[in-house]
Amino acid sequence: MNLSAPPPRCWAEIDLAALSRNLERIRAALPRPMRYIAVVKADAYGHGLPEAAAALQRVAPDLFAVANVAEAIALRQVEADRPILLLSPVLPAEDGFLATHRLTSSISSPEEVGRFAAAAQAAGRPLPVQLKIDTGMGRAGVWHEAAVGLYRQITASPHLRLEGVFTHFANADADPAFTAEQRRRFLAVLGTAGVPRAASFLVHADNSAGLESLAATGPFNAVRIGLLQFGVLPHPASPSAAVGVQPVFSLRTRVGLVKALPKGADVSYGRTHTLRRNSMIAILCAGYGDGLPRAASNRGQVLIRGQRCPILGRVTMDMTIVDVTDLPGVAAGEEVVLVGRQAAEEISLGEWSVWADTIPWEFLCSITKRVPRIYSPAPAG
Ligand SMILES: *Cc1c(COP(=O)(O)O)cnc(C)c1O
Repeated sequence: MNLSAPPPRCWAEIDLAALSRNLERIRAALPRPMRYIAVVKADAYGHGLPEAAAALQRVAPDLFAVANVAEAIALRQVEADRPILLLSPVLPAEDGFLATHRLTSSISSPEEVGRFAAAAQAAGRPLPVQLKIDTGMGRAGVWHEAAVGLYRQITASPHLRLEGVFTHFANADADPAFTAEQRRRFLAVLGTAGVPRAASFLVHADNSAGLESLAATGPFNAVRIGLLQFGVLPHPASPSAAVGVQPVFSLRTRVGLVKALPKGADVSYGRTHTLRRNSMIAILCAGYGDGLPRAASNRGQVLIRGQRCPILGRVTMDMTIVDVTDLPGVAAGEEVVLVGRQAAEEISLGEWSVWADTIPWEFLCSITKRVPRIYSPAPAG
């Protein structure tokens, strides 16, 4: 027995080969050659930024995108050359970092034009920027009716180098009519502004959910892909399933204790489940302290020996209780799959999203620091 450190009680396995392969498959599925912007915000959707970036670099994305300056600086440690696009607004106190780390900020306002131009002047060289247009998402970006004015302001500045324009769909997978309207608004801005039709000037809208959308036609020459490259579909019926991506992330724990409880006994906080039969329960070594959603209490399932076992009662911070009455011989130490495949069965993030009334993006971002990420193959360096 190795006594240098106890083994993890709940861990994520990250298949970096699948991540590289997924990027290749997505690229191959695009209707025509397009720049691939690999979105690795939020610690690469909880997978670990440096490791995920290295796996993606092996198959050469054209750009990376992250949310903010701190994430971009972390990415610059491992990505010396490729452009890094910032998707969230830059804070005034962060302006000085843009030039130092050669970051491409999004611009949504005249005020930002002034700030970034001043930062470029201070640095003694122009800053790369991309114009973000709000066509109906109602988040970052300049409102489309004001976008042409902002476009002209940016292109008139000798201190800014406009490298692209983009928008973001609010409901790409569920509302094709509104997505078409957003696209129409975006194209109207491009037409009036007279944006360059050049391979080097990026025009993009699609994320994972929009991959097969209307934006595949028209002047678009880049896609921004986050979730799908991690092998997760935006929703179970997504046409992106045809791309054939494979899951990168799985989550495992172990049985900590197996015990018998009589019919009529209650299970876990709040006594929300009463046993309807004499039962064997297994106490798992994972809970919401690891990122399991408490909302999946009494609803979720896990895999033990390739069999689905239902969660009984509330998910607690460090322990979750499942029913193993129909699975004789389960013992302390046995491996349990929370997300992923075991034997012929598989539990997907899509299923957890239904059980916990959430979305796969949130599930991945909720896995806590207590959970070690174990990489295969082991990352280089
Ligand atoms: C997060 C994000 C993406 C990536 O979205 P996925 O659905 O994960 O592919 C693309 N564009 C913007 C603006 C984003 O914020």
